Amino acid sequence: MLLSKLFIPITKDLPAEAKIKSHQLMLRTGMIRQSSAGIYSWLPLGFKVMKKIEQIVREEQNNIGAQEMLMPTIQSADIWKESGRYDDYGEEMLRISDRQKREMLYGPTNEEQITEIFRSSVKSYKLLPQIFYHIQWKFRDELRPRFGVMRCREFYMKDAYSFDLNENDAVSSYNKMFCAYLKTFQRLGLKSIPMKADTGPIGGDLSHEFVILADTGESKIFADKRIFDVPIDKYKNNEASLKKMRDDFSKFYAVTDDKFKSEDFDKNVKKGDQIQTKGIEVGHIFYFGDKYSKAMNCSVDSKDGKKTFVKMGSYGIGVSRLVAAIIEAKYLNEKMKWPKSVSPFDVVIIPAINKNDNSNLEKANSIYEELKIKGIDVLLDDVEENISNKFKKHDLLGIPYQIIIGSKATKDQFEFKEIDKDSQMLDLNKIIKLLKN
Ligand code: ATP
Ligand code: MG
Repeated sequence: MLLSKLFIPITKDLPAEAKIKSHQLMLRTGMIRQSSAGIYSWLPLGFKVMKKIEQIVREEQNNIGAQEMLMPTIQSADIWKESGRYDDYGEEMLRISDRQKREMLYGPTNEEQITEIFRSSVKSYKLLPQIFYHIQWKFRDELRPRFGVMRCREFYMKDAYSFDLNENDAVSSYNKMFCAYLKTFQRLGLKSIPMKADTGPIGGDLSHEFVILADTGESKIFADKRIFDVPIDKYKNNEASLKKMRDDFSKFYAVTDDKFKSEDFDKNVKKGDQIQTKGIEVGHIFYFGDKYSKAMNCSVDSKDGKKTFVKMGSYGIGVSRLVAAIIEAKYLNEKMKWPKSVSPFDVVIIPAINKNDNSNLEKANSIYEELKIKGIDVLLDDVEENISNKFKKHDLLGIPYQIIIGSKATKDQFEFKEIDKDSQMLDLNKIIKLLKN
């Protein structure tokens, strides 16, 4: 893409309403624009990053055999009355009525909807286990939407639902998801900690929140710092190995504040290993047994012919929140740096453009064409503007690699720079190799 043709409405001023870095940067670089309180439009740059995150989330769900589908944003109130949550959910639920005066709602989550789908067509244990997921907009009428897309009212979530015959199998579905989450966040360049958590309005008795460390986070974390050293790549994708992975993580104390007790913390973690800090919740998983299947009469015939209520779990990832969470985790010394896996572009070419001399721009153009042929997603900053302003702009945009075409460039050697590192003079083949790596 040519920067001159791209809609990135960068603003110089610090937006007054934005209290945290990610919100400021997302507004300043024109990734999002508020439409009304807690509701945002995603502009091209923000949308591109969110779609890359979504794709990684999708691949890791597919890896554990979860099946993608798509449920609607608008749901009928009837199924929520069956589960009993229509009244319990409270004011966070946006209730609507249609022209026939039917009660509808904008889905804050989909346990009821998926249970209704499942019970209508699955009658036998032979079809179990099943895991479904969708990536869809949700609406929760948060009392105080804040921090941009971090806590908003309309947000994009991956939510998955598992169905099993008995508790044992259900826990093994839970373990698969537990591991898929750790891998997902790792691929997004984040270190997440799975923390034992309360189940809240979803109900049930087994639950973990996945939290990444950030001073601006709203979750309080109490953990044994050794939990950070549990390796993720070492575990294979089979049941025993996934159980082992969850067990290895569970050896270390890590809880949210509703589960925190200082006596337990001191008993389980020696002083030097205790960390008490703040983080951002990026995912949350629950096992809740037959809470919904019982209320909504969702059963299958088991082997001995008896009807059994299926055992369910649900698993959420805040896809839109992750865009902001990655910024919070990566922004350092007034510079942004996107992890390669989700960066809006692989590399940016920055030529020093001189009014009377086109040679840098021409050089930049030919590199640009070459990189495109090689399948590299490249941005060319062809805007006529002072080079130091350009650098400031790219500090905000955070594309991890830059090719600078200025006084140092020779006929076939160009300045190649990874943000936060010293630049080096390289020929184009070397540059391509590095970018392809
Ligand atoms: P929180 O504790 O942050 O309010 P929650 O526990 O209500 O979140 P879940 O129902 O567990 O949220 O939703 C799954 C994921 O969706 C969360 O881990 C989070 O990443 C994301 N999420 C939840 N609420 C919001 C929101 N208001 N804005 C953006 N993302 C959200
Ligand atoms: Mg939660």
